[in-house]
Amino acid sequence: MNMIEQSLQTTDTVIEKMHEHEQIVFCNDTKSGLKAIIALHNTTLGPALGGCRMRPYRSMDEALEDVLRLSKGMTYKCAAADVDFGGGKAVIIGDPAKDKTPAMFRAFGQFVDSLGGRFYTGTDMGTSMDDFIHAQKETNCIVGIPEAYGGGGDSSIPTALGVIYGLKATNKVVFGTDDLSGKTYTIQGLGKVGYKVAEQLLEAGADLYVSDINEEAVLSIQERAKQLGGIVRRISGDEVYSANADVFVPCAFGGIINDETIEQLKVKAVVGSANNQLLSEKHGEALKQKEIIYAPDYIVNAGGLIQVADELYGYNKERVLAKTYSIYTSLLEVYKQAELDDITTIQAANRFCEKRMEDRKNQNSFFTHTKRPKWAIRK
Ligand code: NAD
Repeated sequence: MNMIEQSLQTTDTVIEKMHEHEQIVFCNDTKSGLKAIIALHNTTLGPALGGCRMRPYRSMDEALEDVLRLSKGMTYKCAAADVDFGGGKAVIIGDPAKDKTPAMFRAFGQFVDSLGGRFYTGTDMGTSMDDFIHAQKETNCIVGIPEAYGGGGDSSIPTALGVIYGLKATNKVVFGTDDLSGKTYTIQGLGKVGYKVAEQLLEAGADLYVSDINEEAVLSIQERAKQLGGIVRRISGDEVYSANADVFVPCAFGGIINDETIEQLKVKAVVGSANNQLLSEKHGEALKQKEIIYAPDYIVNAGGLIQVADELYGYNKERVLAKTYSIYTSLLEVYKQAELDDITTIQAANRFCEKRMEDRKNQNSFFTHTKRPKWAIRK
């Protein structure tokens, strides 16, 4: 049975999701052992953009379901961030610890190149920049590259700045001012993003509750607080949700807004970088019922995406940081619409993105004969 036949064993829901996509490419290279799927969800706003994940999926169905879900998510993420890209994603089926070879990533690069500029990709879970240095030998459509290769480098810098803008916009709605000072924030996860957010909050005059399984990160931010001012209280993983803070800032992992945690929350807002914070959409409704404002994660954490997208204009740090400010204005618009329509903020965010795509579809495009971006400067 070949890959496509196998994928056709999927459920009706997955087949329905396949039909929502513009193009799905099954990549099979027997020499290198590459088995991958590239899914292009929607290219209304520009060529599809999305990372390439490598996981030991148990079946082709599981990989297909993952890539379809993630590529659709990228369509919304790109629309929200107002970058000229659509949504796409790739998955490689294999164990990143054992199965990776340079030949596999060169073969992957050839498949990406065969799409003629309709898909740009880079690292995601299970893949690293070293892998894409091989892929880059076969295609110009690689993004998220190190500074030494002309890219933007550490994307957690704009991501953290985006969280700060998200917090400011949310404070404006909840407390009537976008000032970050004088409030207490609970930060879950002091990794690449959370640590930088913590530093900027301390600089702004805030106090923190922090939780991380990495002891060193906690000790380090407590040391930084001695220089920057502010109080940092360490709390356990269980105390994170019930802490007596003003805002909860999840920067570790997803699914943390669920039946169990919503009950415990005392905060007025949830604003953080973690992907897929709501366990399901119904938890957005539960937060609304509790009058807790939820800043849709895919709007708040778009700073890294804005940086990666900027590489194709010829990366410019100042431009990226300036563009990240759009997170502030987009969130305010989403909050306003949610209130006007009496819907959850995640529903308002989805509508906001769908409208952006609809508006673009209705624009005249007399001179656009190809999806290949006119501004792509990498040759
Ligand atoms: P990271 O791996 O550097 O940091 C995650 C931190 O969470 C680590 O310090 C880890 O020790 C901590 N952690 C793990 N389990 C924990 C637990 N049970 N309780 C408390 N802390 C725990 O990741 P990151 O790059 O900082 O990203 C954080 C989140 O933001 C992730 O969900 C990521 O997908 C999302 N995100 C990151 C970026 C980016 O640019 N890095 C962009 C968009 C979204």
